Amino acid sequence: MSYKVTLIPGDGVGPEVAEATRRVIDASGVRIDWEVAEAGAEVFKRGDTSGVPRETRDSIERTRVALKGPLETPVGFGEKSANVTLRKLFETYANVRPARQIPGVPTRYDGEGIDFIVVRENIEDLYAGVEYENTRDVAVGLKIITRRGSEKIIRYAFELAEREGRTKVSVGHKANILKHTEGLFKAVGEELAAEYPGIAFEHLIIDNVAHQMVKNPAQFDVLVATNLHGDIISDLASGLVGGLGFAASGNYGDEVAIFEAVHGSAPKYAGKNVINPTALILSAVMMLDHLGEKAAARTVEDAVFATLEAGAVTLDVARQTGDVESATSTSGFADKVIENLGRTPSVRYPSKAGQRSGPVPAPRARWATGAARQIETAIHGVDIYVEAEMDPVALGDMLSAIAGPDWWLEFISTRGTLVYPNAGGRMDNVGWWRCRFIPVQGHPYSEAGFAGLLQRVNAKVPWVQAFKLRGYGGKAGYTAPQGA
Ligand code: NAD
Repeated sequence: MSYKVTLIPGDGVGPEVAEATRRVIDASGVRIDWEVAEAGAEVFKRGDTSGVPRETRDSIERTRVALKGPLETPVGFGEKSANVTLRKLFETYANVRPARQIPGVPTRYDGEGIDFIVVRENIEDLYAGVEYENTRDVAVGLKIITRRGSEKIIRYAFELAEREGRTKVSVGHKANILKHTEGLFKAVGEELAAEYPGIAFEHLIIDNVAHQMVKNPAQFDVLVATNLHGDIISDLASGLVGGLGFAASGNYGDEVAIFEAVHGSAPKYAGKNVINPTALILSAVMMLDHLGEKAAARTVEDAVFATLEAGAVTLDVARQTGDVESATSTSGFADKVIENLGRTPSVRYPSKAGQRSGPVPAPRARWATGAARQIETAIHGVDIYVEAEMDPVALGDMLSAIAGPDWWLEFISTRGTLVYPNAGGRMDNVGWWRCRFIPVQGHPYSEAGFAGLLQRVNAKVPWVQAFKLRGYGGKAGYTAPQGA
């Protein structure tokens, strides 16, 4: 049996680690028919602003599995990261990053039993990349969190815990501040926990996760977080167990999986044959698990561990031990791993890793959507953002005067904090204001009324963005300003 896999060597050190990995996997006996494909810097430079050419997309459509090196977005050639584009194009919503102690790799946490997995949401959040420069001086980005996206990733975390015999899922969040976005993520975690009574559940504020992870990392088992928090916390996790040279990852969707090292293209080491290929080799081990080649996965993993344990380490580790002279090259490390296929390390740190193979489990019962649950929705008013280089009290008086008989200006805030009616304080004036208008009693909200209000506002100061204030089941779906 042979498998088709798309191989994207990538940029910088990518081709070196990709070649090392390919040689190791080929030597493991698993027959892989690699379809080598392009993405990243050169593609951008040729004028393809996506960084991912059609042929590469078609290859992944065919193979459904990709192994990729790091990709760069060269400044001035494209706006979007080709990595993020690839993950999103194939809806690989689960970014899975294991962190566990590796034999032969010295860390500050030796012997503490680190063996946890960060499950990072991979599609939504600020990584949706929906940003606006609202004025010449103010940039805003939309943090997009959906119930469906949250359910998919948190369910993935619970299912992964079940598959690997893990006992706890922790949701890391920032719901104390971001009540509607991170709050939704946390609430979905709490709702789903009830469906998995055999797995302990906790939720922790993400800054506390960072603190706990450094203090006592062995307490974590499966940790799930939104995209940006997951990105940061998983890099922290890799630092606990040897650094980026060892951090593997898989991006899993319902149909496609893309495996890659966590590290980037490390341009200063490109072409020098010194970079550590372990991260990509261990990502390929995750790929073998995914393909169902569990025995081969364990053989390659053991060979990597046995190699490291025997002291064959690349420059990144040699620097830590102070023995730079004896550092092994990238290709030399791959040679040694190949020689060690069939060997096992003498120390085996207990780990539940390696059972994360196979297709994503069949979904359990899903909740009805908000529409199906017939949650009553209402429009309570509008927030109109305006650009105005003026005193907020003067702005408020001016906009109150043009609100007309059907609207009243409830307040103005800037960067979330109340400035009108005058609430005191010493806020910087950045010339960008949120003006909340509420329909006057007896004048229910209407689209024509809103359009008229926008026109009247715009006759005074340019509006730059507007949101409807919606309520769901009697609860406000928007925030009040600080200081109100
Ligand atoms: P980087 O991960 O490329 O390198 C940071 C440093 O980490 C390196 O200088 C090196 O000291 C160390 N390092 C990284 N990988 C290593 C390895 N395998 N062995 C030993 N040491 C290693 O991060 P960066 O310099 O911030 O980013 C460089 C480029 O990579 C940027 O263009 C960035 O956008 C891109 N990037 C791509 C991905 C991806 O493809 N998934 C991820 C991160 C960064």
